[in-house]
Amino acid sequence: MTQIRLRNTMSRQVQDFAPIDPTNVRLYLCGPTVYDRAHLGNARPVVVFDVLQRLLRHVYGAQQVTYVRNFTDVDDKINATALKRREEGAAGTLEELIRARTEETIAWYHADMDALGAARPDHEPCATDYINAMIAMIERLIEGGHAYAAEGHALFRVRSYKEYGKLSGRSVDDMIAGARVEVAPYKEDPMDFVLWKPSDDGLPGWDSPWGRGRPGWHIECSAMSYELFGESFDIHGGGIDLQFPHHENEVAQSCCAHPHGEFARFWLHNEMLQVEGKKMSKSLGNFFTVRDLLDEGIPGEVIRFVFLQTHYSKPMDWTAEKARQAEATLRKWRAAVAGIEPAPAAAPSVIDALADDLNTAGAIAALHALSDPAELKASAQMLGLLLDDMGAWAEAPVVDLSAYAEHLAALRASAMETKDFAPVDAMKQALVAAGVEVRMSKAGVELLPAAGFAPEKLPAL
Ligand SMILES: [Zn+2]
Repeated sequence: MTQIRLRNTMSRQVQDFAPIDPTNVRLYLCGPTVYDRAHLGNARPVVVFDVLQRLLRHVYGAQQVTYVRNFTDVDDKINATALKRREEGAAGTLEELIRARTEETIAWYHADMDALGAARPDHEPCATDYINAMIAMIERLIEGGHAYAAEGHALFRVRSYKEYGKLSGRSVDDMIAGARVEVAPYKEDPMDFVLWKPSDDGLPGWDSPWGRGRPGWHIECSAMSYELFGESFDIHGGGIDLQFPHHENEVAQSCCAHPHGEFARFWLHNEMLQVEGKKMSKSLGNFFTVRDLLDEGIPGEVIRFVFLQTHYSKPMDWTAEKARQAEATLRKWRAAVAGIEPAPAAAPSVIDALADDLNTAGAIAALHALSDPAELKASAQMLGLLLDDMGAWAEAPVVDLSAYAEHLAALRASAMETKDFAPVDAMKQALVAAGVEVRMSKAGVELLPAAGFAPEKLPAL
């Protein structure tokens, strides 16, 4: 059997992976808060952990793996949208408007992640379906002295858990010195975090022993993973931005509520995504959603390929150039495997790379070295590439722009003689209008199909 090795954030080491129960390998990934379209960075863990679940199913059997990814559907941004719609005259109660917003967001999320070739998890629990489980867990924590009620809140007593800070490698005193905590009069200690908070009449709420209110975010994942997996499971994943405080708090809650369990044995964190070397942010104008890219005509399979070229533990830089190269590689491979059945087994070189802490970049390098199309197809499918239902985009004919490049180069050469650049500019504008990116340098003319490329709009030569 293939030995999978994974870097465990908890131990900070690459360790041999062995499931608690090989007939039920359990993987939990923190899912999205469903208030809007997923941005490109949100999609990275989905693709990374999709490859991991494919590898686990390959090693332990397709039916021996349970993959859970939650939806956080209790959130102030969801409430804000629902309240705004009600103010604008939308029909229905606030609860109905909230439900409508989360349902539309979940449908978008499914469509976008499906387009990236990410298989749907076995379970996608919604937080609002697990409120009673959260209340039960908070009651257990209070009984055990790990939490307390105050002014309609329930709070976790951080200093009651000696291991707090182990996952993120911080000490409680450093955290206080770094002022990463919110001071509030109802807290015994500024480090304590919210398990339950009161809701005012204008917001959704549930009855609880501490009054009408709603859960804090962290308790959701602890309660849902316990309900679906029990007190110990194999792998917990998420973006590195969740390591602290979200995952640290999950560990504290779960290990204090169920002290005989281990909660998650392995913790895997993916690094963040950048765009053209810069952090993605609305203020820099480089913020975009998965749907924005799909609408620009970039196939989901191309996005997936670009993601997997970088190891999950390294920051991943999205660039238009990488997308172009990925598209060219995938077109070449898709042409090579057209009409061919995948081989019965993936190439050992690809499996070995994936088993080595999910080295997807190494696996792609190994794919390049394969010469048998049937083996290439079977191996690429381990990474969720070259799947039959993902390839429609590659069937559209490729338009050869070389004649236009030659024509434009000739126009420029004669303009250098005549000093009349109007014909060059006119041709350039016509190409840009058809969605072609024109790059002119001393080295020559390069034409690239860009976002919104429309071959039917190309000018006649
Ligand atoms: Zn979580």
